[in-house]
Amino acid sequence: MACRSTQPSSEPLPLRIHAAQWVIPVDSPVIENGAVVTFGGKIIETGPANQMRTRYHGEMKKYGDAVLMPGLINAHSHIELAPLKWRLSPTGSFMGWVRNLIEARSRIESHEWIPAIEESIDSLFQDGVIGVGDVGNLDFINDIVSDFRRTWPFRGIFFREMINPTADAGSIPDIGGLPAMSETKKSGNISGRNGFGFTVSAHAPYSVSPWLLQEIKAWNRARGFPFAIHAAESLEEMEFLRSGTGPVRDFLEERCHWPLNYRIPSTTPVRYLHSLGLLDRNTICVHAVHLDSKEISLLASTGASVCLCPRSNMFLGVGIPQAEDLHRAGIPLALGTDSLASNDRLSIFAEMASLTGLAPGLSPVDILEAATAGGAWALGLSHRLGSLSPGKDAVFLALRSDRLPVANIVEFLVSEGSRDHVECYVVDESTQTPAA
Ligand SMILES: [Zn+2]
Repeated sequence: MACRSTQPSSEPLPLRIHAAQWVIPVDSPVIENGAVVTFGGKIIETGPANQMRTRYHGEMKKYGDAVLMPGLINAHSHIELAPLKWRLSPTGSFMGWVRNLIEARSRIESHEWIPAIEESIDSLFQDGVIGVGDVGNLDFINDIVSDFRRTWPFRGIFFREMINPTADAGSIPDIGGLPAMSETKKSGNISGRNGFGFTVSAHAPYSVSPWLLQEIKAWNRARGFPFAIHAAESLEEMEFLRSGTGPVRDFLEERCHWPLNYRIPSTTPVRYLHSLGLLDRNTICVHAVHLDSKEISLLASTGASVCLCPRSNMFLGVGIPQAEDLHRAGIPLALGTDSLASNDRLSIFAEMASLTGLAPGLSPVDILEAATAGGAWALGLSHRLGSLSPGKDAVFLALRSDRLPVANIVEFLVSEGSRDHVECYVVDESTQTPAA
């Protein structure tokens, strides 16, 4: 899959009518011979091409037998782990993989970080991702986002991830004082090109103390930011939260985090997070592989989103998310890749193809929604991304393939969008100001 972008401009862009054989707005039915009208950096209307031509006067851009659709959202990535590509293998044990990850990460040479991260950013963009919810622990990702020898192409948010299983009420770190949070601390929210945001997140229910979990949630709640947390990913996590035993306990003992200064919750991850008041419309539960039916109902009642990362789950052998049950319960779904330590690529098209096989009860439209509108919803970006609706940012995808079908176009893209015969272009008509 090859992808390139139009040049961003600092000037307001004129009215343009982008016409193609297929237009997939996502939040309304597919339009054959459709058009997207853009002006001043925004989409102003999407509809049949002949109607748009009658209604608007502007430059016509013809894409022929291409497909126009919203850019994809990778709602859970760890771009900074790019140097670990191909360096880790599944171990059959989630905590075994965590140990290997920590060890492999400690061996990354300083000169390896930036080239691998830049390559990763390029590959994300080349696979049609225009929005990310990226998680990391490195402070210099902030500099990269602010244009560290390159132009940061994504909308979205960077989650500075916190891991501290023993922080108590008297020793909670000053999360506003984290180095990577300097911009946030000053401005309260957004910095960088494309309005990219920075905030803090919690790693997981077993690796962050209840006091710190609530502190991080309060930080985000006060600013209207999403709160992201890995939850219900592995059976080791389930065992530990239920009984305080198993590989997670062994790991915490090795790291001198045992005994904990709070009582083991003796319940499941989602019930635990709910009991702490952490679940609401702005919470993203990443993975959510191990949920019982009552938890699914509980989660649905809170409005929280689930970010599915099926290819990472398969790599680690932790199980398969119950995507159909989650969707049936009305839980908003998003898609993520996780990192190159548990995935061979950061492609949301590949995640869609995997989900097609794993969750046949989901329709192609359901899966495309998760990859676009669902990700935008989870990250609080619905006013800018996720569909080809009036008012959204004028940045979208144009796809071509010599195997484009005459019908079932969404099914084709969801299952084959990551194949080499599909070419993807990011059409950027937004009024961006390139970083200085
Ligand atoms: Zn992750």
